[in-house]
Amino acid sequence: MPSIFSKIISGDIPCYKVAEDEQYLAFLDINPLAKGHTLVIPKVEVDYIFDLDDKTYSGLFAFSKRVATAIEKVVPCERIGVAVIGLEVPHAHIHLSPINGIHDLNFTKQRIVMNQEEYSSLAKEINAAFL
Ligand code: 5GP
Repeated sequence: MPSIFSKIISGDIPCYKVAEDEQYLAFLDINPLAKGHTLVIPKVEVDYIFDLDDKTYSGLFAFSKRVATAIEKVVPCERIGVAVIGLEVPHAHIHLSPINGIHDLNFTKQRIVMNQEEYSSLAKEINAAFL
């Protein structure tokens, strides 16, 4: 059965898309740590990030760098935090989330709530800043 992220890639499940190319997709996390919390995934479905082939793995980080640069242009923050967890969704992904201190990258903390309009306009803004 395809992962929930493969269903997002195929369009069976909607997402707030931030950036895409042939191999990678970035979209807003549906349960964000902060405004701008984004997931970057390879389109190939591999559970564990360290099982990706080297080319896809390094490409994922290169794509994430471009996405992080775009998020930073839109969301005021000290920097973009990077995390790999992967305990919930078995499809490799990188979390990018704006941070102002170490506490902002605490995945056990209360997530923020955003409405559809906020998600949609934020995704569009980040996409417009994506080079
Ligand atoms: P992890 O696997 O790294 O522990 O966490 C998976 C992340 O994916 C969580 O932050 C969760 O909020 C996010 N997530 C899970 N299902 C969906 C979904 O259907 N859409 C989006 N946009 N994010 C999801």
